[in-house]
Amino acid sequence: MRYGLKTKLSLAIALVVLLTVALISLLANIFIGNQFKGYITNQQQKSTQEIVNRISQQYDTQSKKWDVDFLHTIGMYALYDGYIVKVYDLEQQVIWDAETSDMKLCTEVMNDISHRMMMEYPEMNGQFTTKEFSAMQETEKVGTVQISSFGPFFLSKDDFQFLDSLNKILISIGLLSLLISIIVGFLLAKRLSQPIMETVRLTKQISNGDYGVKIEEKTSTKEVQELIESINHLSGTLESQEKLRRQLTTDVAHELRTPLTTAQTHLEAIMEGVWEPTMERLQSCYDEMSRICELVSDLESLAKVESDNFKLDKTWISPLELSQKVLENFETELKNKHQKTSVTGSASEIFADKARISQVLINLISNAVKYSPDGSEMQVTISETQNTVVFSIKDNGIGIPENEIPFIFERFYRADKSRNRLMGGSGIGLAIVKSIVTAHGGKVEVESRLNEGSCFIVTLPKLNEIDLPSKNNY
Ligand code: ADP
Repeated sequence: MRYGLKTKLSLAIALVVLLTVALISLLANIFIGNQFKGYITNQQQKSTQEIVNRISQQYDTQSKKWDVDFLHTIGMYALYDGYIVKVYDLEQQVIWDAETSDMKLCTEVMNDISHRMMMEYPEMNGQFTTKEFSAMQETEKVGTVQISSFGPFFLSKDDFQFLDSLNKILISIGLLSLLISIIVGFLLAKRLSQPIMETVRLTKQISNGDYGVKIEEKTSTKEVQELIESINHLSGTLESQEKLRRQLTTDVAHELRTPLTTAQTHLEAIMEGVWEPTMERLQSCYDEMSRICELVSDLESLAKVESDNFKLDKTWISPLELSQKVLENFETELKNKHQKTSVTGSASEIFADKARISQVLINLISNAVKYSPDGSEMQVTISETQNTVVFSIKDNGIGIPENEIPFIFERFYRADKSRNRLMGGSGIGLAIVKSIVTAHGGKVEVESRLNEGSCFIVTLPKLNEIDLPSKNNY
């Protein structure tokens, strides 16, 4: 059986309050009961003494006589209070006796008290006991007073009523706090569970593919707020992933369409006899096919670098040597464009995947060649810090518009589209650069000014902590 968070929380709060109230009531009852018993015992001792004092004063030392009328009044009052009084003179003659005065009332009082006390305090095993006191006037003994009362203590009707009201008040307070706690607990549980329930609802929505949703619910509970933020972040990431996935399909289709349509129309015209299959036209079809092959192999490289089980085949490589070797491959192109190049600087070896870093340099240098006019200059500079090696590839070519710089590392992104289509390129080269550099634990940055030139800076760690090979092993 599963219960909701709200029910569980409400019940837990109510249970805690119930236990607390019960414990407080129990302790209060025991404490007040004990205090009350002590107070009553004390009070009864005082009352007994008071009765004895008042009786003693009814003896007239001059006439050596007792005022029996007053004794009767005092004795009857005492009887109503639960004390059965008997007064003797010095000769042990009974002067006044409550039982002789009103036997019926005495029995009634005794039964009444015994019955009440037996009912309420059966464990006390109380009974009527008689105590004897000397009736004194100053230092002279004038008689004896016998007082019987229920011991060790007894409670009057008023005392019982007082205890009863006290219990009622305690029970009412308990019930009231329980009621308040149930209401407060319910409201608190509702406040706490509301955002969680909302989060669950929206998470379900997200798992059904509705990535755009955001949980707007705000809560003062830190953990719940963190949960909401994480889910919002997750949903945002999923949304952008989904967008990228869709974008990729559109981009691939778009990139393939232009060369395919061109090749198709050319071939159609040749097949229908509209065009002569001249070398020039076949070459144009071949070029379009080459573009498609290039695009597909670029996509393949990117997919490989981005795949989960992409592994770098690391060795110790010299940055300067590698840059020089890569640049040599561009000899013809550079000559054709009358571009001057130089590789300067030096750096110690880095532990990296040679083929991939070559790919990075090839992509960056080929861009520097492609996006620079005839007769321009290109510089490859190598430098190092304590832990990193920096390659910078600087050209004074066409540059990149400032607002496009943040996007050029994205797949298929080409700055200034109209201009770029003429220059070829699929917009994947820099995405591959970024993936390879990131896989090495490095970063790639760009500084560029339109019509002035660009500088791509690749920073690679000399050695990643996780690699930790001994240099001599390579
Ligand atoms: P492409 O195949 O189009 O060159 P890249 O991913 O290599 O694709 O580059 C993305 C875009 O960045 C290019 O289309 C171009 O607009 C811009 N770009 C890259 N390198 C340079 C550079 N050296 N000078 C000017 N623009 C550049």
